[in-house]
Amino acid sequence: MSEASIFTKIMNGDIPADILYEDDDCICIKDIQPQAPTHLLLIPRKPIARLVEASEEDKLLLGQLMLKVGDIAKQLGVDEAFRVVINNGAGAGQTVFHLHLHILANKKFDEGSLGF
Ligand code: AMP
Repeated sequence: MSEASIFTKIMNGDIPADILYEDDDCICIKDIQPQAPTHLLLIPRKPIARLVEASEEDKLLLGQLMLKVGDIAKQLGVDEAFRVVINNGAGAGQTVFHLHLHILANKKFDEGSLGF
């Protein structure tokens, strides 16, 4: 079996993190190297390595994550302007191979730019 990801270790309490929200399906933490004044990670407890590894059985979970992003954005008062990013694969900048959604806000997003 592959080693637990750093996010699984955080969920298990083996590594500390700034946890903003958690439920049976996911956890939301502050990114340790923020790329925006608000930079959160929404992570499913299920250790799906990359988005492309998600399958039909993950449909509900993926939908729940999308809805949770909206809830969190509203709770933080950033629902008028935030960005959600998923890096899939090392070539796209993925460094932690446990699916996670970056939630970025409170920065000026350049029109037409999709970067962090
Ligand atoms: P990615 O490059 O899309 O795989 O994103 C991984 C993210 O996890 C990066 O933005 C890292 O800063 C963040 N990260 C790595 N380790 C930790 C940690 N221990 N606590 C919080 N965020 C982390």
